[in-house]
Amino acid sequence: MEVLSSEDKAYLLGTIRDIKDFPKPGIVFKDITTLLNNKDAFRLLMDHLERRYKEMDIDFVAGIDSRGFIFGAALADRLHKGFVPIRKAGKLPYTTISEKYALEYGFDEVEIHLDAFECDREKAKVLLVDDLIATGGTAEAAASLINKAGADCVEACMLINLTFLDGKKKIEAITPVYSVLDVQ
Ligand code: AMP
Repeated sequence: MEVLSSEDKAYLLGTIRDIKDFPKPGIVFKDITTLLNNKDAFRLLMDHLERRYKEMDIDFVAGIDSRGFIFGAALADRLHKGFVPIRKAGKLPYTTISEKYALEYGFDEVEIHLDAFECDREKAKVLLVDDLIATGGTAEAAASLINKAGADCVEACMLINLTFLDGKKKIEAITPVYSVLDVQ
């Protein structure tokens, strides 16, 4: 299956900006807005994802609130598949199902519309997309939610994996994971 050359990986990584101590001290925030506003980098990434997924048997692309919406919706359009937003609690207007997940302190919750994955076959096949794996908790909850909604999460596609946090393993317990860029 399609993977990126090391030159292209280095190029894409170079377009992502590190912001130290955001949103709180000790965090190095990976700012992908500098990849998005670079038309060549954004196209290189989307061309790669299109090539990787164009032969995969999927019905929907689901993106996680909020940066997963950007890459996920662009990819869904390129693949001519429906796009489904997975949102933080309280944002979706119709009947929802939700999944809670633990944070360092407390809980967060992701939601999806109950009928989001209705399609011609009984069990829709869904590709999950987000920008980054840190602890893996958000994507793990999102993949579980897709399965809970009666669909089948066939892969989680993440732009960046912060390997030192080991979050990928958590998601891999539910679905295969493809990370475009691994950051040590
Ligand atoms: P986690 O659930 O810990 O894997 O966190 C993943 C989510 O938090 C993703 O939706 C990311 O957008 C965001 N996130 C966590 N850490 C960072 C970081 N260092 N830089 C940018 N986004 C982050």
